Amino acid sequence: MVKILSGVEARNKRKVALMERVQGVEKTPKLAIVQVGERADSTAYIEQKKKFGESIGAVVEHYKYELEIPEHSLIEEIFTLNNDESVHGIIVQLPLPESLNAYSIIEAIDPLKDVDGLTSENVKILQSGGMGGFTPATARGIELLLHHHDVEIEGKYAVVVGRSQLVGAPTAHMLTNHGATVTVCHKLTQDLAKHTREADILVVATGNAHLITKDHVKEGQVVVDVGINSVEGTPLQEELPDRKFTGDVNFAEVSEIVEAISPVPGGVGPMTVLALFENLMDAYVRLEEINN
Ligand code: NAD
Repeated sequence: MVKILSGVEARNKRKVALMERVQGVEKTPKLAIVQVGERADSTAYIEQKKKFGESIGAVVEHYKYELEIPEHSLIEEIFTLNNDESVHGIIVQLPLPESLNAYSIIEAIDPLKDVDGLTSENVKILQSGGMGGFTPATARGIELLLHHHDVEIEGKYAVVVGRSQLVGAPTAHMLTNHGATVTVCHKLTQDLAKHTREADILVVATGNAHLITKDHVKEGQVVVDVGINSVEGTPLQEELPDRKFTGDVNFAEVSEIVEAISPVPGGVGPMTVLALFENLMDAYVRLEEINN
């Protein structure tokens, strides 16, 4: 019988401890979310973060800017948030419009407040062991999900499908830092199944619905499905609350074979939001140490 790696269960358990951390500190931890434009999917993700943050007692401030904002003005706004002592974490909701250079804007965030772990300083820290920086929320969410379900990482062979800076690459570094031997596959990889079948832990983050089938897996594997794909026929950008999702893994087929699998929805998604606020609390503690 396959074991379901429930992110809802893991999130709910950790949420209690996180609330206690928030209640135990002197000031209220505050996350600033910067949004440019009004993409409906971005707004929905921000609302999700706001709802969770407020439910644990944090403050989540949503800063909205016009699509036409010049790059230097947005960077000035980020500098203002960097200097605001009441703000402990800053994230820029991606994707940014093409008129803006996402790299320059992310780099403007104070690495001590970069709770999405995307500045070059935090990327470097993750690549060199991960101590003292911020791991991007999805990778940290996967780490917490595996930990909650007692999945040993050390000494295992892990295959990560997807190499984005947001998900695949940081997940590969996180697994390496925990002592796994890691292979990263991507859309140019030849014979994907040859690689995925060898994994003890298989993480899939590609944005291709049901890319991983029974032909890509074997018995005894742990499969983490990060993908969020709109089920055909449901709208992608409108009416988001009613949208139905499916993962990058063909759950029906793969769950018949492997030892454990995370569902979509209810797997990595809830853990990603939780991990963002775990990062916020870490930022709060570090900033308080520095400022006092
Ligand atoms: P991305 O488009 O930036 O990167 C996709 C990666 O997958 C690339 O490295 C690409 O080379 C690889 N890829 C694409 N097609 C492939 C194929 N056929 N075979 C092998 N590799 C292939 O996407 P992303 O931002 O990394 O997100 C990936 C997925 O994860 C998306 O579905 C996204 O919605 C989802 N996501 C989920 C969460 C969560 O919390 N659950 C968080 C972030 C992203």
